[in-house]
Amino acid sequence: MDPRDALLEFPCPRCGTGSRDRFYGPCQTCRDQLVATSAGQARPADVGRFEPAMHVVPNQVATKE
Ligand SMILES: [Zn+2]
Repeated sequence: MDPRDALLEFPCPRCGTGSRDRFYGPCQTCRDQLVATSAGQARPADVGRFEPAMHVVPNQVATKE
């Protein structure tokens, strides 16, 4: 499957802006902000972990609520 065809469309859970990404989560803008605001604090790694290696199946996340 071409990964470009697998993009999810969803409202960003943080700011509500429509977002398209391969995995459900904060939009790129929010991720940037979260990284910036959490840098040196708690666990910034959680913010940037929406990577292909993530074990959560996008469709399960998107449909559970
Ligand atoms: Zn956002």
